[in-house]
Amino acid sequence: MVFFDLEAKKTGPEKTEYDVIIIGAGPAGLGAAIYSGRAGLSTLVVEKNIEGGQILLTDVMENYPGYGIINSNELAQKFKEHADLFGTEFDYGEVVKLELDNENSKLVHLDNGRVYKSKVIIIATGASPRKLGVPGEDEFISKGVSYCAVCDGAFFANKNVVVIGGGDSAVDESLYLSRIVSKVTIIHRRDKLRAVKSLQEKAFKNPRIDFIWDTVVKEIKGNDKVEALVLQNVKTGKIEELPVDGVFIFIGLEPNSGIFKDFVETDENGFIITNEDMETSVKGIFAAGDVRVKSVRQVITAVSDGAIAATIAARKYFD
Ligand code: NAP
Repeated sequence: MVFFDLEAKKTGPEKTEYDVIIIGAGPAGLGAAIYSGRAGLSTLVVEKNIEGGQILLTDVMENYPGYGIINSNELAQKFKEHADLFGTEFDYGEVVKLELDNENSKLVHLDNGRVYKSKVIIIATGASPRKLGVPGEDEFISKGVSYCAVCDGAFFANKNVVVIGGGDSAVDESLYLSRIVSKVTIIHRRDKLRAVKSLQEKAFKNPRIDFIWDTVVKEIKGNDKVEALVLQNVKTGKIEELPVDGVFIFIGLEPNSGIFKDFVETDENGFIITNEDMETSVKGIFAAGDVRVKSVRQVITAVSDGAIAATIAARKYFD
């Protein structure tokens, strides 16, 4: 589903100066926009793709309060419409340059050529799937290697796929795939899953989901498309080949902290360091959601980060 305004993408909004510029229109960015708009601040959200962020990579959401079980696209659209209610403006492009000459004036340059000025910036650029880094991975992207079950699962109807990882994403996406494919084999590098118990229980009960424990992928092989994985048991050292039709990789996240890393403090993995008010090491720059150092990465915690960032920004910079 695409719900960005194509006209806005071409021309951009009329204004070039805002109180707050939010970079990223996922749950954190749209949560921040709702609070910023409601606080009476002029607010621009800049998004390089479409609104929704990582929500769009999943099928349904079961843990966002008030909605029970809701289609993820629909929830993303509701967030966008809610931000619209309070006058949020949008532009579509990637931030390629920041200029922070003056504490009260920050310039944000987009790859579409437009430049915006604001007093406050909230970085809500999220995170992207981490890569395995094995031979064959890049070569077979879209030819059997995928990082998104909702996007690519349908290509593997009645086939055998492997999911790599043991966290919430790996198990959640395996459950989704099990409704489409013949068999899902979860390959995990340890003998225990990291995913929450409720997901684990569902996976263990699912007759279409198998597990290979204590095993890592050494290589992804094929001709025109993926045909097999070379696996190694980390306990015995034994190497074997497993024929597969597809491989879905869910081994965690890399922060989308891109050019912002040059300005604000990050940890060794590039996640932005904030205090509990979402303030970064630079005055007037906040970070919210998966792009920052935090221990619980959920839609609800991303929205909450956004709300905190915008509320503190309003109090500190516009009272
Ligand atoms: P994660 O929680 O960091 O789990 C990553 C998994 O991949 C771990 O099991 C890890 O193994 C494994 N792994 C990491 N690097 C690997 C490598 N190089 N080779 C093989 N395996 C590797 O990441 P995630 O599952 O993507 O979740 C990210 C965040 O989103 C989490 O905070 C999660 O709770 C949240 N999330 C929540 C939901 C939900 O609530 N339904 C759904 C999706 C994601 P070890 O266990 O050995 O470290």
